[in-house]
Amino acid sequence: MTAKYRRISRLCLVFILLISTSIFAQGDSRPKNVIFLIGDGMGPAHITATRIEKGPLNLERFKIMGMHMTSSANDPVTDSAAAGTALATGYKTNNDVVGQSPEGKPFKNLMEYAREAGKTTGIAVTSILPHATPAAFSAHHKARYHYDIITEQQVDSGLDIMIGGGLSNYYPKSVAGSRRKDEKHVLNLLRKKMPVILNIATLRKIKDLPQMAVILSPGHLPEAAKRDYTLGELTEKAINCLKHDPDGFVLMVEGSQIDLAAHANDMPRVISEVTDFDTAVKTSLDYAQADGNTLVVVTADHETGGITFPMKTIENNRIVKPTFSTDNHTALMVPVFAYGPGAEAFAGIQDITDVGRKLIEMVKVK
Ligand SMILES: [Zn+2]
Repeated sequence: MTAKYRRISRLCLVFILLISTSIFAQGDSRPKNVIFLIGDGMGPAHITATRIEKGPLNLERFKIMGMHMTSSANDPVTDSAAAGTALATGYKTNNDVVGQSPEGKPFKNLMEYAREAGKTTGIAVTSILPHATPAAFSAHHKARYHYDIITEQQVDSGLDIMIGGGLSNYYPKSVAGSRRKDEKHVLNLLRKKMPVILNIATLRKIKDLPQMAVILSPGHLPEAAKRDYTLGELTEKAINCLKHDPDGFVLMVEGSQIDLAAHANDMPRVISEVTDFDTAVKTSLDYAQADGNTLVVVTADHETGGITFPMKTIENNRIVKPTFSTDNHTALMVPVFAYGPGAEAFAGIQDITDVGRKLIEMVKVK
């Protein structure tokens, strides 16, 4: 082969490589499935405390991390309604508002985009189902505490899987224990849409269903230390039910009570709630690693408690004297962790709305 001939064949090879690279670039490199885990109120200190007392966490399996600023449209310190809306829709709104603008314009959420793309959708939370974060992924309303309306919207939301608490929000006012202000029997409305499971024993026995609502307590689920099932178990059930769709699924999981524990300035409970949340991280990462086409993103909606651990407050891997600077939320940045196809997009410092917007870009019809 002459030198000239070798040069020409080398050029041909480069040309072929360039063409094949651009063909690959045109393909959809986005994940088939998305599991989005939110630790409500979980800032760096909540994770630090759990790491000190419990040792390595599944959160440490992530290699791609970022941070996000959590402010809402009307307050540097957000609440879970505005923050949930930012994460679910990519838009800021005022505190107390879920899934819509301060003026009342509905924002399309991640689950609505996912369904347009033919994906199944689900939520699994440890709060009542109409609580702010799950509401932001399944409702559009001006006031987060109007649980009656939000519960009804969730029944019609199109979610395939709903797991959480809040049974008393589904019974008419005249039924003992109801927390509704009207006589609507929302549980019956829900039963017309999908099977409803009301206890963990039944959930463990039944086969995976394409659609189901699982409501395991009258209010929030029992706190992590007082129940005999983990958020990881609920997450696994949700994944198993959702995963059969060839178009993929989107699942939102919330460790809802990290926030409640921090509001109460209760450090042992913060640690048990983060530990419980970490079981869901494990389930999700195990699935994503085996599946190879699932994006897992973990973050918080804001920080709660303004927690620090000054010198001489930690003894023998125990937080003996945590410092809570508030019993409410703070403006601290919170971490975001990502694994799987598209994970790099979540690295660096960003706004909370960027996290929601990037997730929507991962699932929406192009
Ligand atoms: Zn809170």
